[in-house]
Amino acid sequence: MIIAMRAGATDEQINHICARIRDFGYVPHVIRGAERTVVAAVGHGDKKEHIESLKSADGVEDAFPIMQPFKLVSREVKKQKTTIKIGDLSIGDGGFVVMAGPCSVETRQQLFDTADSVAAAGATFLRGGAYKPRTSPYDFQGLEEDGLRLLAEARERTGLKVITEIVNTEDVDLVAQYADILQVGARNMQNFALLKKLGAVDKPVMLKRGLSATIKEFLLSAEYIVTNGNPSVMLCERGIRTFETATRNTLDLAAVPLLNELSHLPVIVDPSHATGKRSLVKPLVKAAIAVGADGVMTEVHPKPEEAWSDGPQSLRFEEFALMMKELQPHLELRRLEAEAESQALAMARD
Ligand code: PEP
Ligand code: MN
Repeated sequence: MIIAMRAGATDEQINHICARIRDFGYVPHVIRGAERTVVAAVGHGDKKEHIESLKSADGVEDAFPIMQPFKLVSREVKKQKTTIKIGDLSIGDGGFVVMAGPCSVETRQQLFDTADSVAAAGATFLRGGAYKPRTSPYDFQGLEEDGLRLLAEARERTGLKVITEIVNTEDVDLVAQYADILQVGARNMQNFALLKKLGAVDKPVMLKRGLSATIKEFLLSAEYIVTNGNPSVMLCERGIRTFETATRNTLDLAAVPLLNELSHLPVIVDPSHATGKRSLVKPLVKAAIAVGADGVMTEVHPKPEEAWSDGPQSLRFEEFALMMKELQPHLELRRLEAEAESQALAMARD
């Protein structure tokens, strides 16, 4: 249930509500907004008598059940979009971040050349898998800690922040030492032991949508991380499996505005894994801007034909640089739209 406090409710009143919630057997989560505080009580039940009793407590404006099965990640609980800060970068503040890099970290030269190139073109995050969840056990599985070290060196060299995948529960602490964002791959979206462990980490997590996950399942997986203590979660739409075989997956673009309606978490689009085709990446990055994504992740490789994984969907350096240039008018249009929207809102208030 949600307990909406009155504007100006005191800390004492909020603490009292939290204690009552615990007595009733729920776990309280205090969410402080710009104007008022809400307390979300999560657990079984949302019993009517508990809601009625909390409604009459001091400092409470209203109390009502949360309708969605996912709670803390829902817009019902938190109207304001979540902004995740990573050093001087922000994700979810209305801007658009670009994460780019190879599918797998292969060699020092490959990673450093890619990092230099994508940084010069305007990316702010370097992606690259050191642990690879491959469909076949005979495919390259990643350089593991050596790959993490190379990513950290590339960060030193370029100033790019690093996003890399965590595959196993046992490696969480190690990967968290090196990464700025921990990526949970599509194949691990419902690895609940991993999600719970990531709840205890103080690094942001990017959760990729499972190959056949519904939006509800996707958000419930995000809920696992948040309810276990880590509020810095972003969602990544990376295509889902459909009857279509012309593309590797089917990019569910409608998921982006829908996730934005249902949840306050930032949304990232990955057109590389969604399509499996280099030529489709740029148009879909433009589409991601248009449908309100907070950023994209794209694969880039110095020589895609020689890549150890996902070459056909990886952009060449010059293709990535050209794409970054071509995005500018699309981003400008989005800025103008946001400006017009906030002016209209301000006028409606006056
Ligand atoms: C990746 O981003 O490297 C990856 C393996 O993607 P996904 O989990 O979406 O397949
Ligand atoms: Mn890949």
